[in-house]
Amino acid sequence: MPTESARVLLAEDDKRLAQLLASLLESDGYTVTVVHDGQRALHEAMTGRFDLLLFDRGLPGREGLDVIEALRAHGNTVPALILSALGNPSDRVEGLQRGAEDYLAKPFDIDELLARLRVLRRKSAAPTDGLRVPAGTLFPQRHEVVTASGATIRLSERENDLLATLARRPGQVFTREELVDGVFADADETGVVDAYVHHLRKKLGRGCVLTVRGVGYALGAAR
Ligand code: CA
Repeated sequence: MPTESARVLLAEDDKRLAQLLASLLESDGYTVTVVHDGQRALHEAMTGRFDLLLFDRGLPGREGLDVIEALRAHGNTVPALILSALGNPSDRVEGLQRGAEDYLAKPFDIDELLARLRVLRRKSAAPTDGLRVPAGTLFPQRHEVVTASGATIRLSERENDLLATLARRPGQVFTREELVDGVFADADETGVVDAYVHHLRKKLGRGCVLTVRGVGYALGAAR
């Protein structure tokens, strides 16, 4: 199996610690994206680009565990490790119950952190599951749809993120506002969603995304 470097989303508001962690992770072979608040962490994680989430619990904007909980509610299953100054057994239990795979109290030993991340990485490195979409199978980490006949259709990052969001919850109708929040964090109006639905339909056929009038969009029904 090719050993592609794992992508970690690191959310830590202590900028010095974030920088230190990022360089330690990078020297251990990870590709690291750093964010400093919970809102940003949610938006980034929703893109589906990451193999591991490493979140501080006490984040401005939105608490780390809240973000994990929101991600799980949206069907995002990327393994998450929570770092927290709160290290009582009850805090750990809460962390695990709310969707984190692992929980490490600060201050922590860096070797222990790296060892735990390797364990989580093994979970996420299991053969990348594709997501079923009407045109075939979407592989969100590769930004590709492989059709039933074996053809590969490349998607742009945002097309990929939008389709992956819909495909993770087939049957769920998303409002434009929810999709802007989850996929187009830097956009301030919902027209951008319509534009990307249009792009997706051009590439994958009209049926790939379903319009639910007066509500929003859902993944198209499989044929
Ligand atoms: Ca903090």
